[in-house]
Amino acid sequence: MTKKILLASHNAHKKEEFKAILEPLGYDVIGTDDINDQSEVVEDGRTFIANARIKARYYYEKYHMMTIADDSGISIRYLNGFPDIHSARFLSDLPYKEKNDLIVRMMRDISDRYAYYTCAISLMDKDVDEDFIGIMEGTIATSPEGKNGFGYDPIFIPRGFDLTLAEMPAELKNRISHRYMAIKGLVDYLAH
Ligand code: IMP
Repeated sequence: MTKKILLASHNAHKKEEFKAILEPLGYDVIGTDDINDQSEVVEDGRTFIANARIKARYYYEKYHMMTIADDSGISIRYLNGFPDIHSARFLSDLPYKEKNDLIVRMMRDISDRYAYYTCAISLMDKDVDEDFIGIMEGTIATSPEGKNGFGYDPIFIPRGFDLTLAEMPAELKNRISHRYMAIKGLVDYLAH
């Protein structure tokens, strides 16, 4: 029998990513749009985990069904860890092409290029309250390269590669990404 999981997100792309991994395990993933809930939950936590928990708790308490939520972003050491939990709002409405151009220009002569992506997933259900974290380390490229992926992918080179995430095929990114690592933790938990 399939078990329903509510993904606390309006993002159709994320829903497909979670679906592809959880459906073979017998879970039917539904998004908030599938239940016509357009709530905008205020993410005012100070960490990725805190924000994932805020979203998961909001929907779990509303619908009393197994709920997952995720929160993710990039942290750049030269920028004191910024934009981190502010990744989606960083430089407000500028298109990512301009945000990425600006970051590489700002870091033109900087040798410390270390950065990492984080993805936190929170799972809530009756008597279940668990968090899963995935990290992908790497460096900031000297110029944006590639057209795949989204967000900061054209300027992020994962450790062990000499390509940006945007130059990689999606299948490769999805095998090494912060989101994949966090989902793997969730899947291991659900499977046992
Ligand atoms: P959220 O998890 O939907 O809140 O996403 C936060 C933001 O982090 C996104 O809007 C992107 O700016 C950034 N981000 C998170 N994951 C990725 C990724 O895999 N590639 C590029 N940018 C990402």
